[in-house]
Amino acid sequence: MEIKTFGVVGAGQMGSGIAQVAAQSGLKVILNDIKTEFVERGLAGISAFLSRGVEKGRIQVEEKDALLANIQSSTDIKDMAGADFVVEAATENEALKFDIFRSLDRSCGNEVILATNTSSIPIGRIASQTGRPDKVVGMHFMNPVPLMKLVEVIRGIVTSQQTFQTTWDLAVQFGKTPAEASDFPGFIANRILMPMINEAVFCLYQGIGKREDIDTVMKLGMNHPMGPLALADLIGLDTCLAIMQTLYDGFGDPKYRPCPLLRKYVEADWLGRKTGRGFYEYT
Ligand code: NAD
Repeated sequence: MEIKTFGVVGAGQMGSGIAQVAAQSGLKVILNDIKTEFVERGLAGISAFLSRGVEKGRIQVEEKDALLANIQSSTDIKDMAGADFVVEAATENEALKFDIFRSLDRSCGNEVILATNTSSIPIGRIASQTGRPDKVVGMHFMNPVPLMKLVEVIRGIVTSQQTFQTTWDLAVQFGKTPAEASDFPGFIANRILMPMINEAVFCLYQGIGKREDIDTVMKLGMNHPMGPLALADLIGLDTCLAIMQTLYDGFGDPKYRPCPLLRKYVEADWLGRKTGRGFYEYT
């Protein structure tokens, strides 16, 4: 099936970025969230990103306007009936994603592939909520989506080869480099990254270093572009906690125990950049 219209469920930092790269690749996009203000915030983020491109002479203002005009806002998931391929990028919560996939399964045509941008929830578990588990796949973008080259494409146990290939090809169409991962908690990226971030939080929790020292060690000592605590703030501490919890539950191994300090910050709504406070303060 030719993909002309691309649906994105969730207009947060990831969903809006995915909508942007899909629109930049020439597709029409339907961007959905639960409230108009959330979709508008996502669109404002895309607009701000593109305006910087205009200022730097990378794109023309007409291109920016045309791209934004190709993104249709939605607050009703039934609008996904108009999409040929859907990516879900809503909050990292299993029950919520199950609910979304049941709705998508009811609303979308039988041929439509339903992908999830989940960071860690097993694809097979999400697929089992639908009557089309062979057409459910992981399409895991990195943050910030317009800048990061990687897309992990994850096969659930019953994902068909055709579904996998279509998703892989779409990632290439978006200008990304796909990598294949098997369906185990955290896949490849977060299986490696998130325990490192969690360990950095343990270093802070146990007083081994101040936040700046922990980040400096990893930036200058390991040549990482960002320190792990600053990266956690960018990802969102709620998302980090949810991923660690999924690794912990999925493998039943205490080495994945989320750091109590991470939990404390999330309970206080210190979620990182998106709430203005995480390990660092943002104005
Ligand atoms: P976010 O908090 O910025 O955005 C989530 C959005 O989902 C919010 O706008 C929220 O209103 C919306 N939402 C919640 N319930 C919804 C529903 N029923 N229907 C439609 N929209 C709904 O979170 P994010 O960082 O964009 O993460 C989204 C997904 O992407 C998560 O699964 C996360 O694990 C994954 N992910 C995140 C990162 C990252 O670095 N943040 C990287 C890769 C993957």
